[in-house]
Amino acid sequence: MGDALDRLDAEITECRRCPRLVAWREQVAATRRAAFRDEEYWGRPVPGFGPHRAPIAILGLAPAAHGGNRTGRIFTGDRSGDVLFAALHRAGLANQPTSTARDDGLELTATRIFAAVRCAPPDNKPTPQERDTCAPFLHRELRALAPDLRVVVALGAFAWAAFWPAVRAVYGVAPARKVPFGHGALWQADGAPALLGCYHVSQQNTFTGRLTPGMLDEILARAKRLAGLT
Ligand code: SF4
Repeated sequence: MGDALDRLDAEITECRRCPRLVAWREQVAATRRAAFRDEEYWGRPVPGFGPHRAPIAILGLAPAAHGGNRTGRIFTGDRSGDVLFAALHRAGLANQPTSTARDDGLELTATRIFAAVRCAPPDNKPTPQERDTCAPFLHRELRALAPDLRVVVALGAFAWAAFWPAVRAVYGVAPARKVPFGHGALWQADGAPALLGCYHVSQQNTFTGRLTPGMLDEILARAKRLAGLT
């Protein structure tokens, strides 16, 4: 049976609604990267991860081809995840600093992580149609978390943009005018979780120093305050 999130997770992993993404995720899983050639790739949509009662949500773009699409857990098994989970551990929101496989013992506290698009897209770029096709899963995840949810940390502009239709659909709340994405940008409204912007934890940002561990620590500290955890 399970609760709404168990049912949602199960439904997500079976989804085949986007032909281009289904073909891509399965092709990547069949061909594999040389470093992982002995592994069996997940090759399916990747559900959210973390407790079902969480005041903090972290919203990403989509699984990585050789990360979540390989391991079956979002942000798991790639450099982006290394940076994110190390920061969550420093913030006291994860019981260990690494996330390597679905059975590695990682547990999050008060935090649920999911993506706006649940299948790995070529070049990390879903089409607007794919984003919209996957949006109902995001809305259902937010609806299931709503009783406890206080803040959503949007990793990057894509996640930031995906939040607005979701908050309208789930909470019936919409900003009066467009709210631009920025690192540290904050939107708050009565009757909805706060939205906090953070540069994406991609290698492009972390290798260049655009996003440093200290900047990530500040964002998570703010998220904890907004969630009432500190
Ligand atoms: S991106 Fe979303 S809607 Fe499209 S196939 Fe994957 S899970 Fe289904």
